[in-house]
Amino acid sequence: MKFPNEINAYCPKCRKKTKNKVRMASKGRPRSSAWGNRQHERTIMGYVGKVAGEKAVKKLGKKQKVILECSVCKKKQERIIGKRTSKKLELKS
Ligand SMILES: [Zn+2]
Repeated sequence: MKFPNEINAYCPKCRKKTKNKVRMASKGRPRSSAWGNRQHERTIMGYVGKVAGEKAVKKLGKKQKVILECSVCKKKQERIIGKRTSKKLELKS
């Protein structure tokens, strides 16, 4: 799937359509003391009653997320392109 690296999109700060730079969203470093991780550790240690089993439904592919940056005010916003796909998003250069 190919996607242009500059699009016209609505900017909530400028309140109008502006030119936006497109770049790939990257997953940051996971925080070891985040609430979800602490809860998971407690679950493994056995302090929680019922532990969920394996997932019944396996999702096919992932949603492709990009970050749009307004060229006027530099505000960043996220956008999901299309639906779940197994193909990775590519930016045209
Ligand atoms: Zn803007």
